[in-house]
Amino acid sequence: MISVEDALSQILEHVRPLEPEPVPILEAPGRVLVEEIVSDIQIPPFDNSAMDGYAVRSADVAAATPQVPVRLDVVGSVAAGYVAGARVGPGTAVRIMTGAPLPQGADAVVPYEDTDDFDRPKEDRLQRPASQIEVRQPVRPRDHVRPAGEDIRHGERVLAPGRVLRPQEIGVLASLGHAAVLVHRRPRVAILATGDELLEIHEPLAPGKIRNSNEYTNAALVRRTGGVPLRLGIARDAREDLVNKIRAGLDQGADLFLTSGGVSVGDYDVVKDVLGSEGRMQFWQVNMKPGKPLAFGLLPGSVPLIGLPGNPVSAMVSFEQFARPAILKMLGHTDLAKPTVQAVVDEDVKNSGRRGFIRVIVTRGEEGYHARTTGEQGSGVLTSMSKANGLAIVPEGTYHVPAGTELTVQMLDWPEGACA
Ligand code: AMP
Ligand code: MG
Repeated sequence: MISVEDALSQILEHVRPLEPEPVPILEAPGRVLVEEIVSDIQIPPFDNSAMDGYAVRSADVAAATPQVPVRLDVVGSVAAGYVAGARVGPGTAVRIMTGAPLPQGADAVVPYEDTDDFDRPKEDRLQRPASQIEVRQPVRPRDHVRPAGEDIRHGERVLAPGRVLRPQEIGVLASLGHAAVLVHRRPRVAILATGDELLEIHEPLAPGKIRNSNEYTNAALVRRTGGVPLRLGIARDAREDLVNKIRAGLDQGADLFLTSGGVSVGDYDVVKDVLGSEGRMQFWQVNMKPGKPLAFGLLPGSVPLIGLPGNPVSAMVSFEQFARPAILKMLGHTDLAKPTVQAVVDEDVKNSGRRGFIRVIVTRGEEGYHARTTGEQGSGVLTSMSKANGLAIVPEGTYHVPAGTELTVQMLDWPEGACA
């Protein structure tokens, strides 16, 4: 039996970031950039006004005060999107709107609020633009001017490979004129449930049978993590069926296989055998609970197969520990760990002595986080995962955690409801 850390590092050793693909920028949030983005322009491209007001020569109004305002002749007007026809010479000003290019001759902008124009209703200002204004406050050179290149310089390395793209990066890409970017492609993750007891969701229950829920949980987890689920259906507990389905998955170009069930010590647990005969088994059994009977190996073409346990909670906890980081690495991520918080447990917690993953509900108290269990911790009780927002981690060798102990909790949803 190997440790959780050992198991993870063995899995990650056999997983590489996938090759680049171009995607339209609106499909890129959450993806990892492969290329370097260097700006071939400056942003903003020209000096422009940060305020609605008047473009002036700062020297002209250096002495302006509310008591002794300075009068300037208004020689033109410029809105955002246009270029002023007039030049600002001594004793003159050009009306200017936010974002409009600074006219020639001007070196600062006086906001409307600091002129007598501000006393007039907007309607009036629009119908009868002032031919003269009174400036009531001085400005210094560059005041209320956004200089060209303030945001991005020409030739600047703006985004480096490995950057996880968020809405703000999408905006930066748009401003630089990139309609598409190169990101790591999404892994195709083959999902295969095993078991003679499994029914499809539309089938009525029958004696000895249960519905196949793992396929759906796993597909949803894969999708949430950024992978593309490739559903291979249910393999019966017979070598041949499993082998055929695995080959079908390989033919469809799966980058990773996730099976569920068939990895215990039962008479019909065939996943390990098939992994051994079709490919190469790397390890089996991890020192954790739930999730001990995890198998990992490589199929032909070095395609990794993570054999998740069959019990729905074990499968999900194991997915979070091993499959999620593998998928994230394929996507090009380097931060592979689930976010954690330190939380005080509010009740005594029993543990098996293996690394325990206890389903908990974490709440934020006055002085830090608190965790209480979701109750029944059986590895078949999937609703214990549904009630939980975290997995409290109990170290190996610990059998009893008294109430009041601080534990590390892996957050399943962080912040509330949003955690890949
Ligand atoms: P196994 O490791 O194959 O013996 O599976 C352990 C238990 O997990 C079985 O007794 C089933 O109750 C349950 N199980 C296995 N596969 C699934 C599945 N796809 N959906 C729901 N439960 C499953
Ligand atoms: Mg089974």
